[in-house]
Amino acid sequence: MRKLEEVLEDWEAVIGLEIHAELTTLDTKMFCGCKLEFGAEPNTHTCPVCLGLPGALPVPNKAAIESIVLAGLATNCDIEKHSMFYRKTYMYPDMSKNYQTTQGPVAFCMRGHLDLEVDGAAAKERIDVANLAAGESRGNVTRIEDGYTAHVGITRIHMEEDAGKMVHIGGGEGRIAGATHSLVDYNRAGTPLTELVTEPDLRTPEEARLFMQKLRQIYLSLGISDCSMEEGSMRCDGNVSLRRRGDTKLGVKTELKNMNSFKNLHDGLAYEICRQAEVLEEGGQIFQETRHWDPSAKRTIVMRVKETADDYRLFPDPDLAPYDLTDEWIDNVRAKLPELPDQKAARFSSAFSLSAYDARHLIEHRATANFFEACMELAGDDAAKLAKPVANLVINDVTAYLNAHEGVELDETPLTPARALALVKLTTEDVISSKQAKEVFAAVLDEDKDPAAIVEERGMKQVSDTGAIEAVIDAVLAANPDKVAQYQGGKTGLIGFFVGQVMKEMRGQGNPKVINELLAKKLG
Ligand SMILES: [Zn+2]
Repeated sequence: MRKLEEVLEDWEAVIGLEIHAELTTLDTKMFCGCKLEFGAEPNTHTCPVCLGLPGALPVPNKAAIESIVLAGLATNCDIEKHSMFYRKTYMYPDMSKNYQTTQGPVAFCMRGHLDLEVDGAAAKERIDVANLAAGESRGNVTRIEDGYTAHVGITRIHMEEDAGKMVHIGGGEGRIAGATHSLVDYNRAGTPLTELVTEPDLRTPEEARLFMQKLRQIYLSLGISDCSMEEGSMRCDGNVSLRRRGDTKLGVKTELKNMNSFKNLHDGLAYEICRQAEVLEEGGQIFQETRHWDPSAKRTIVMRVKETADDYRLFPDPDLAPYDLTDEWIDNVRAKLPELPDQKAARFSSAFSLSAYDARHLIEHRATANFFEACMELAGDDAAKLAKPVANLVINDVTAYLNAHEGVELDETPLTPARALALVKLTTEDVISSKQAKEVFAAVLDEDKDPAAIVEERGMKQVSDTGAIEAVIDAVLAANPDKVAQYQGGKTGLIGFFVGQVMKEMRGQGNPKVINELLAKKLG
């Protein structure tokens, strides 16, 4: 199979997402008073309503509707004041009602959008924006300095309920194949579940991953779900089809399931795009089918082939009256909107004179955003001056550390905001070099000590004394007369070589600013 970059040269991928989020932070289920609790003893949170016993009458959970309206307002949706609940035929043991209560053509939230900022390596997958000038738009994208923004439409967010959980006994890895029997746990049945459907506006796996990431940030800031992709409280399915670059007609799409992490979402879509390209290039045909991403085998497998559109026999639920929302109620919900990730980025950018890129990456995770803010609070009057170096530390070093230590929470590490700020000050005040700062950063995390103590113990003080540095510079220049001549002949890029040599001689303890200044003077 060809690589994704090559495939995307010839083919345009058209991707849409369906994202389910359980409203895990609520106390009770969608249509009954049963408690919501992950990991409770099986079948301890059930009642006649969520088991679908005859005569049981559902009552909508108002807090759940407030949550979905919050989600809609935060994603630029129109809130529909009149909507209804429907029954969708669903015959499977994990839903003993034999239907799922969901919404029909009109959902609580319709016609929204999110704007994605795609930069750095992530922007490379979208090859058709490379030749746009900064600020220029084409289709749903606008070129920005280090990438582009993409306007992604949201068709709707509707309210429904989750099914129970099946446990298959005797098969491999809990799979149904080879199982001797299955057990059902109805604790999850009736959990308030939102489903967001995007327009097919996404074009690369990176855009899909960023959309999911941005939505997760928004839901977390709203506090409506714990958004755990691992435990399945946030799940994503993808629809993907290909068409030749320049074509406008849509190709046949496949639906992809089981992409339960950001990496799986990206890799599953990337694989499926390459697979479809291979089939089409060999003269084959894509079938409308549901496929399962297998991350260990790194491929997608057919689950079921769809010959016609599914017919769920959707009809209005006779037990639930149409739901009417008033303007006043919607305004009350709007007043509860917290600061959203984009707003936080804009605030960071203006309050601390940070670039849009820095602000965007600081707010990528709540933990890093909070950490940065805590550092700025401690910095007091120096906040404006220290914002950029603190942002660099958080975006580069802290993020790299967290990526390398999966499952570690920032506030559980020995790196406190006070220590981070102290480390940054040691660098900006020229006590240690930026190279030494990397060593101190690692030592703070390894040894749980203050940066000043580490610098003291290791005798790491930076040498800024011009006399000492000058002596080393003279020796380096004397040892490289040919390079000095080349520099003076115009190859000024050699300055890096001289700085490196001086640094090496001084075992990394020379102040690079002083070295650069003195070198420029001596060579000039
Ligand atoms: Zn119940």
